[in-house]
Parts: sequence; C-alpha cells; structure tokens
Amino acid sequence: KSFAELGVIDSLCDSCTALGYKAPTAIQAESIPIALKGKDIIGLAETGSGKTAAFALPILQALLENPQPMFGLVMAPTRELAYQISQQFEALGSLISVRCAVIVGGMDMVPQSIALAKKPHIIVATPGRLLDHLENTKGFSLGRLKYLVMDEADRLLDLDFGPILDKILQVLPRERRTMLFSATMSTKLDSLTRAALQNPVRVSI
Ligand code: AMP
Repeated sequence: KSFAELGVIDSLCDSCTALGYKAPTAIQAESIPIALKGKDIIGLAETGSGKTAAFALPILQALLENPQPMFGLVMAPTRELAYQISQQFEALGSLISVRCAVIVGGMDMVPQSIALAKKPHIIVATPGRLLDHLENTKGFSLGRLKYLVMDEADRLLDLDFGPILDKILQVLPRERRTMLFSATMSTKLDSLTRAALQNPVRVSI
C-alpha cells in the first residue's frame, strides 16, 4: 500500500516522497490507519523500523486539521533520540511549517523557556527536564495537548523515568490520544500503559 492508501493526505505524502520514502514500512502500514482513526496504540517496534514517521504522520495530519500550539508531546529516553525525532517532525512537516521545540536535560533552561513561549506545535522532550519546565516555567502548560507519544517506553522505564512520567501524566488532559512504542513488551510496562492509554490497539511487526 502507498501512504495515500493508508489515509495520509497529499501534502504529507509529498513530504514522504521528498524524503525518499517510497512506500510505508511495516510499522507505518499497521499503525497509521489506526492512529488516523483516533485510537490509542501500543506499538512493538525497534529503532530503524520507521516508527517515528508512524506516529509523526498521523499527528501532523491531525494538526493540519486543527492547528494549535502545544498540540503534541513526544517523550523520549535520551537527548539524542529527542533531536532525531524533532528532525523527522520538521522534515515531514516542512511543507506545513510545523514548529518543534526540543526540551532535554544538560542544556540551559532559559533558551528552552523562550522556545516554549513561542508556542511550538510539537514538543519533544526527555521527562526530567519537561517536568522541570512544567513546574518552573511561567505560562507553560500542556492543558490543551491533543497527542502524547512515549517512544522507547522500555528504555524510559529502565532509566527510572516512571515516577516522573506519572507526574507529567497528571497535568495532561484526559481527552487526548496516546501512542506508546517499545522495542520490548514486558509486564514492567503494564502500569504505564494502564495509566496513560485508553482501549489501546496493539500493533507489532
Ligand atoms: P526510525 O525507525 O523512525 O528511527 O526510522 C529509521 C530511518 O528510516 C529514518 O532515517 C527515517 O527517515 C527512515 N524512514 C522512515 N520511514 C521510511 C520509509 N517509509 N521509507 C524509507 N525510509 C524511511
């Protein structure tokens, strides 16, 4: 199937073509139609599978239908992954001028606060620093968030981000879509999936 046959709109199909994506990967073919229907997803997929575009395309499509700041939040376990995810959002969303902010530890808080004040559409963050901004950056709220992604959720928990994720979940609206991707599925993930997702569809490749 093509991206268009999965339900992806023309402008985003054009971005895929421009990036050299000829056809959807397996995880994209499985996830995108489900995400476009507005369902929560638990995706079993490794890095390299194309999982970033699997969640980025449906979020960008929803953003186009209802443009709003602070629309999507992606939680990632590491700084490097956060930057990679943000680059893919910007590449896929370049034709629609999507604005992303990367909020990660080990960097100055102030430029990040300024980036948040500019009201990006998409925030890609590591959990500790995001919580720091939620608690300390005036005017920053995720009260109208529409999409949450937890990427590499197994690594998020291995790095002991579980309690921080729980705190972040408490300030997010319940009326949102959530996607969780992980390379492994273990019972460790059960309480996080119960806390964060509603009637999720499981997808694996
Ligand atoms: P990811 O698993 O999301 O880290 O993606 C791995 C790499 O595959 C990235 O460099 C993507 O740009 C690329 N990619 C994602 N989707 C496709 C696709 N459908 N066709 C070709 N390359 C892709």
